[in-house]
Amino acid sequence: MKHTGILAVFILLIQTLSAQIDPVNRYAQQIWSMNLKKHLTVIASDSFQGRETGTIGQRMAADYLSNEFRKIGLKMPQGLNRYQQMYPLQKDSFIASKLMIGNETLESMEDFLIPLRSNHFFDMQASELVFMGYGIDETLYNDYFEKDVSGKIAVMVTGEPKRNGKYFISGSDKVSDWNLEKKLRRASEAGAIGVLFIERADQKFSERQIRRNKSTSIYQVSVNPPQLPHAMITWKTAIKFLHTDFESIEGFAKEQLFLNEHRPAMIKNVSISFTKENQIIEASNVLGMIEGDSLKDQYVFLTAHYDHLGIQDGKIYNGADDDGSGTVSLLEMARVFMKAKKEGIKFTRSIVFMAVSGEEKGLLGSEYYADHPVFPLENTSVDLNIDMIGRVDTERKKADTLSYIYVVGHNKLSSDLQRINERANNKSTRLTLDYKFDDPNDPNRIYYRSDHYNFAKNGVPVLFFYDGMLQSDYHQPTDDIEKINWPLFERRLRMIFHTAWDMVQMPKMLKRDLTLKD
Ligand SMILES: [Zn+2]
Repeated sequence: MKHTGILAVFILLIQTLSAQIDPVNRYAQQIWSMNLKKHLTVIASDSFQGRETGTIGQRMAADYLSNEFRKIGLKMPQGLNRYQQMYPLQKDSFIASKLMIGNETLESMEDFLIPLRSNHFFDMQASELVFMGYGIDETLYNDYFEKDVSGKIAVMVTGEPKRNGKYFISGSDKVSDWNLEKKLRRASEAGAIGVLFIERADQKFSERQIRRNKSTSIYQVSVNPPQLPHAMITWKTAIKFLHTDFESIEGFAKEQLFLNEHRPAMIKNVSISFTKENQIIEASNVLGMIEGDSLKDQYVFLTAHYDHLGIQDGKIYNGADDDGSGTVSLLEMARVFMKAKKEGIKFTRSIVFMAVSGEEKGLLGSEYYADHPVFPLENTSVDLNIDMIGRVDTERKKADTLSYIYVVGHNKLSSDLQRINERANNKSTRLTLDYKFDDPNDPNRIYYRSDHYNFAKNGVPVLFFYDGMLQSDYHQPTDDIEKINWPLFERRLRMIFHTAWDMVQMPKMLKRDLTLKD
């Protein structure tokens, strides 16, 4: 009896000691796929309508997250309302466009298209059009030479001329900076009242171009002043108001030859108009935190984007993996970190859980955060970003498909990243950490394609965790919850949790000793 008693005390002592030495494993084991599934069943359901930024679906997801943050007991950072950092967005909705050449009315989206974002309301008639070649004004190539476009509508071809297989302006394989914006600026300086751009090689507008311009577009509030009214027209349309012999010019332009010798006469009398609805709307990033102890003014960020692609052509894009998986990962890690805190664990620095929106519109939510940080970026030790960790990359042909994760950014900004992440992984989950996407020759440029980049560009070390989905159901309405691999998802998240824990508890912030360049 006595012996057993001592043994029991001894075992208890060992358990207590080992828990004190490294409690992280014990807590990492409490990341459960059951909880991930419970949240993802809601977040990736049809009722959230694909969570498109600026729509009701996104606001429903934000409400769900802020409710869960409150239930978990996360602290709301100062200055926020319902855990949300609001930010403005521009929302443009196409109403109507009209183009008449002579007596002929052309068909919108078929013969011509008026870019939704870069045009405001306009309604104009012109009795004269001037063909301006490529609309380029350089010393060695000047489409403006001896032409008067003042008070007239300029017609120009998109793209740039080539000579001997190289672009003439840059002298290389790359185009110069004569993009549409620069061409519009030059035309405006010359007094043009509008521009018709001839799409260089295409007879038709692409599906993507049509979708972007005929419905609604949500984007960053623009700081640029309104541009000159402009429309895109197809070659077929262009030929209608250029001299018949101008058809040969189509060949020239396709080959991207010099155009400034050609000055065809054109039909006069063109009328063109455009109307859209233009609103400022709001979206949000959702932030909750667990306050640290001795270094609570330093922060470890855990991020994921909760927005997705909404409804397109009547189909709901549920984005279960992209990035429902990252979103519910934040909730589950927050729950377990909070449990540890309530059970007496002291966290050295503060942990911030941030679910951002606007990612699918161009990393807008995280960009807004980086420009308006709630906590100083210089005190933000690291951002661990999760964007898709719930599936197996269908392109992966190795035998480790049930035990890998892509880790991106391991060799940038801080030499601590790889060391801490690998140590955490070796101690516990033992996944294959694949650094494929850090190869500078990788064409996918993954490092620049999710929200961590807005931290990285401000010098904050980042790691990005990713399952590698680029094909299959990526950005398809079939990215659904049924396709999630729950055991793998859970295992990957335990590894990330472990890494985060170690970064919260280490004595110093991650050192910033490497550059963004490889
Ligand atoms: Zn994503």
